[in-house]
Amino acid sequence: MNPKIHHHGATTGVTGSCHELRYAADNSPGSQNVTGYHSLLIDCGLFQGDEAGDDGARADQLQIGFDIDPIQALIITHVHIDHVGRLPHLLAAGYQGPILTSPASAELLPLVLEDALKVGFTRDPRLIERVLAVLQSRIIPLSFGQWHRLDGQGGVVALERAGDPASAISGNADPHLDASNADATTAEATAGGEQPASGPLIRLQRAGHILGSAYVEIDLAHQAAMSASAQDHTNHPALTGTASNEPPRKRQRIVFSGDLGAPDTPLLPAPRPPERADILILESTYGDRLHEDRGTRVERLRAVIEHALADGGTVLIPAFSIGRTQELLYELEGLFHSHGEDGPQARAHWQRLQVVLDSPLAADFTTGYRRLRQVWDDEAQDRLQQGRHPLAFEQLVTVDHHADHRHMVNYLAHSRQPAVVIAASGMCAGGRVVNYLKAMLNDPRHDILFVGYQAKGTPGRDIQRYGPRGGYVMLDGERYDIRAQIHTIGGYSAHADQRGLIEFVTGIPVAPAEIRLVHGDEGAKVTLAGKLRERLPRTEVVVP
Ligand SMILES: [Zn+2]
Repeated sequence: MNPKIHHHGATTGVTGSCHELRYAADNSPGSQNVTGYHSLLIDCGLFQGDEAGDDGARADQLQIGFDIDPIQALIITHVHIDHVGRLPHLLAAGYQGPILTSPASAELLPLVLEDALKVGFTRDPRLIERVLAVLQSRIIPLSFGQWHRLDGQGGVVALERAGDPASAISGNADPHLDASNADATTAEATAGGEQPASGPLIRLQRAGHILGSAYVEIDLAHQAAMSASAQDHTNHPALTGTASNEPPRKRQRIVFSGDLGAPDTPLLPAPRPPERADILILESTYGDRLHEDRGTRVERLRAVIEHALADGGTVLIPAFSIGRTQELLYELEGLFHSHGEDGPQARAHWQRLQVVLDSPLAADFTTGYRRLRQVWDDEAQDRLQQGRHPLAFEQLVTVDHHADHRHMVNYLAHSRQPAVVIAASGMCAGGRVVNYLKAMLNDPRHDILFVGYQAKGTPGRDIQRYGPRGGYVMLDGERYDIRAQIHTIGGYSAHADQRGLIEFVTGIPVAPAEIRLVHGDEGAKVTLAGKLRERLPRTEVVVP
């Protein structure tokens, strides 16, 4: 069979990412396959709002409705909940295979899922512990830039790189592999040119979206039947070689973008385009938008903070825990540092400002980000070299216990202490940010700063929309008039904008035969599809 791609989510919006790549099963003795195909699953995310999957899944119905028997491995691109949130349900459905992800994501994944389990699965600590133990035993970290193949027994083998011996890698608790497997692969890899003949090869590359985020390259053996029948969506000259006078390629490369970062995302190196992609599955969140550049964003952040400093108010930033929160802390440290260099007066002025991270989960992730500093980008490394602490500066206070949170809300609402508060949830639909809003919305001393997308029907959207016109918002059934200043800064999105997405695609030396656009609202997908068709007339752009 020709490889086929099934999208189980992220086709009706930006949540529930879950894609299945099906390919011919190997018929080797001992192969238990009865479906005739094997598959790889890329991400297994939660749905939000009205979005739904092809197996009937939605925000309030998360059970897995597709066949999991053929799945040989689950590959996680990054740990955002809309990419990993259904993982407990996949395990509950009986999925026994490995979970492949980058080393940084392997560290962060249990943190995310522990929180997700508490919110949406169970409050029973023993059950949570059991699920997490199973999860830990299945996670196999894959180094970036290194090809791997599945060993058919729940493990993975790293393929030889120039001068490197091949090494066997397996899950933490269940090491299936021994030296003989690794030797066999080395022999296979060297004797056969560079790669073994059958079974998918998997490589992760940096996606620059959040720490540990990856895009996934998958090489599949080119089936003999493919160039003969070419019935499928794979009948493009680049794949079959019929129109370009090239011999048919031996392997076909399918690339799943996951979420791609913007080029100037703090802390993370920009993603580099793949060296090859015959089929590209591409996210399109901001396919119809361009971000403000980083310099503009920082200036606007500075202006809002100056307001807080002038009148002793609070800048309240509703933010999700992973990614944006750490980007903001990093930019705040940069602002503190630059004012330190503007002389003692500016320094003293800014020293009065407190930065409050009021979210235990965000604090945990920030600790994780700090621990993983070896994967930060060059600019962040420079700050470290200078002896600076980009995510742990002296003005930063974290609030853990609920009593301390209550106290902090009270103190900031009634004192003249200038502060920046970062608290979840990002759309003000719950979480500690709601208590700050209730205490502060009514006072023009305070500023509410939105840095992320506010979905329709959320309090965040209402505040953003009606706040600047002196409107009100309903929180927990009560009306709150808005007198605080309301600001929105675009670009702290951790997603590439339209320009970034197009550069990612046009940077591939040979244009993909097919691009499938996922993970975007309808308008974003349609706009991006039009732009891509203009630039790459020979590429089939599909919106599944
Ligand atoms: Zn994401």
